[in-house]
Parts: sequence; C-alpha cells; structure tokens
Amino acid sequence: MKFSTKLIHGNYNLENTGATNVPIYMSNAYAHSSPQELENVFKGKFPGYVYSRFSNPTVLEFERRMASIEGGLTATSAASGMSAIYMAITNIVHPGDEIIASTGLYGGTYTLISNLQNIGVKVIFLEDISKKTLLNNINENTKLVYTETIGNPKLDILDIESVGRVCKEKGIIFMVDSTISTPYLINPSKYGADVIIHSTSKYINGTSNAIGGMIVDCGSEKYKNHRYENFQKYAEKYDKLAFTAKLKSTSGLDIGASMSPFNAFLSLTGIETLSLRMKKHCENAMKIASYLEKSDKVTNVNYPNLKSSKYYDLATKYYADGASGILTFRLGTKENAYKFLAKLKLILDTTNIGDCKTIIIHPASTICINNTEEEREKMAVYDDLLRLSVGIEDIEDILEDIDRALEAI
Ligand SMILES: *Cc1c(COP(=O)(O)O)cnc(C)c1O
Repeated sequence: MKFSTKLIHGNYNLENTGATNVPIYMSNAYAHSSPQELENVFKGKFPGYVYSRFSNPTVLEFERRMASIEGGLTATSAASGMSAIYMAITNIVHPGDEIIASTGLYGGTYTLISNLQNIGVKVIFLEDISKKTLLNNINENTKLVYTETIGNPKLDILDIESVGRVCKEKGIIFMVDSTISTPYLINPSKYGADVIIHSTSKYINGTSNAIGGMIVDCGSEKYKNHRYENFQKYAEKYDKLAFTAKLKSTSGLDIGASMSPFNAFLSLTGIETLSLRMKKHCENAMKIASYLEKSDKVTNVNYPNLKSSKYYDLATKYYADGASGILTFRLGTKENAYKFLAKLKLILDTTNIGDCKTIIIHPASTICINNTEEEREKMAVYDDLLRLSVGIEDIEDILEDIDRALEAI
C-alpha cells in the first residue's frame, strides 16, 4: 500500500464484524475459557488480552496503524507524548549512563531530560547536533542520542541522515521525536532512527480532541552490543525487538500510563486525513511566512523553507514541499507581542500545535516558563517571539486576522 492508503487501511487486524470503523472496546478486563488459556496469554504464548493497562483491541489497532505508516516493526502507545518520552528514555538510560540531546527540544522534553540528572544520568545538551559534535561527545557511557526531526519551537532541521550514520557507526541508539514532521513528511526509520516518538495529540489526531503518545520501535541489532548490557537477555530472546520486550516488562509496565481506548479511537479517526491536512498546513505556513517577512513590523520570521532560514538547505533536502505548519516571528518587544495577541479574532491564543485551527502562543511566558532565561536563549525563545501553528482554514481569513493585529503595533 502507498502512504495515504495505509493511513486508512494499514495493518487493519480486527475480526470481520463488518464495522467500517474500529470499535471502542471500553473494557478493563477479558475473560478466558480456562485457567490454562489465561496462563498462556499471560506468558505471551497465546495472543489475547488480559487487562487494558497492558493491551486493548482498539488501542492495539492504533499502535499497528502507527507502526505501519512509520515503517516500524511494532509500536507502544502511552497516555501522552510526555509519558511516551519518559518510558522510552528510561527504558534505555540508567544511573551512570550518558545521554546526548539537542537544545532545540520541546520545553517539556528539555526539562524531563535535565531532570534525569537527579537519578544519576549525565546529560549533554548540544546546540548543534552534527557528525562533528556527536563524535566529540560520544564515549563508552553514551547510551542515547535524543533529537527532534524539526525542533519545537526553534524549528531547527536535524540532518537526520548524518546523525543516523554516526549512531550506526558507533552503535548508539538514536531516538527521534517526529511530532512536528509526522510520517507524512518523513520516515526517520529510513535514516537509521531506532525509536521514533510521537505526541499523537498534535498532527496525528489533528483536531485536538485526544491526548496521546506513541513509541515506534524500528528494531535494532545495537542492543546485542556490549554497550547495552541491560538488554542482553531481551536481545537473546527477542532479537531486534529487544527494546519493546524490555519496555513491556520494565518501564512501560511500571509507569502504567496506558492510552484510553476512546482516545485511540479518536486518533484513528483523525489519522485518516493526515495527508490532506499536512499538505494544507505546509502550504498555508509557507504563504504566511512569506507574507510576514514583507512586513516592516515583524522581524526574524523563522520558517525552514524561507530562503532567509539558516536551515533552508536542510529543509530543501528533507522537506522540499514544506517543513510542517509551525513558524515563529518577533515583534520587537513583549508589549508588542501582547498587543498583537489581544487583537486577534480568528486565531486562538492557546498552548497547542497541530490542530486544524490556527493557534498562536507567546512561549516565553507560557510553555517555556519553567525554563531558565539561559535555557530559553538556547531554545531560541525570546521575550518578543510568537509561535504560530498554522491551521487549514482559508488563507485569506488567516491573513486578514494577522493584518488587523499588526495594525495595533
Ligand atoms: C506536544 C509535544 C510533546 C508532548 O506531548 P503531549 O502529548 O502534550 O504530552 C512532545 N514533543 C513534541 C515535539 C511536542 O510538540
């Protein structure tokens, strides 16, 4: 199947009841016909369900769909993007280990990774993740390189091919959050990513009616190396799927942040239109970025596909038709930014991205409020900066709203 067909039919696995949508199985538990059968399901010898914190038919369909469109071997869902990230990272790093991460990360992830220092993990943040900086920082304790395909809100474009190659050469697990790019724009598995993270709350769901997270396991031989001693017993038994095997019996199980079947259903409904939505998000974002660049009230318009962007070449290489629907710009002072926000009518001032609706936020006073000034500087979050998540409305209406708000300055 090709991509947009997979969005609708990929890995469909439910018994044939004739239902054209995946039913919502709101059941915590599953009865079995004999204790032997239940024992075998618990042991993983028989397929089946026992308790919805471990697995659920509706949730499993969503996991299978995500694995299908990412080209992964399997996927594990979570109650949110943050819980997915926490589960996936703590599945790999333990006290004494080192993690290399990018400073362009989503604020919540930046804080999560910084906090790993409290459990004895050494954290190295790099402003620019490249072959050179990675080779300078990888040592025998390095267990994980963690990045985003497109940083939120820095909008730095990862040279994923080169990072994938270094991680392959050094045998280091490469985990990448592809929430902003989505599988419509890029499949990180093709570039050597071992684990792909999604906050499905954003573009995957598309209409902001269900929080969710997904961990896609692309399979890897790296877990067999001496570096990953904690994975040995899983690698012997489950080979390339050692990551998921460990996740399902340790951090994933311990944390218990399972996705609700209802949220899985809503996200399965949303995902069917991902291709159409992403195409429109990209088109609208490019038009708005070009428009803002012409205004003398606006500076530093940051959209990777603009010629003025520092990431233009990388954007052209990986995202020739548009690097998602997010852009940032500056208005000189925080006061101007607030005046602009106050005048908007159509565009909603709210913390979120990836919705069909156009959304805007002042990151420094909201989503990045827990980061220090120094961290915010590294994350390219300034006092006069606004982040716009461009929706799929008619472009004329979005531009009219922006124009009116700019007049207030
Ligand atoms: C929103 C977001 C997250 C966190 O996901 P939640 O579903 O809100 O917990 C992680 N990474 C990125 C890039 C995000 O945009």
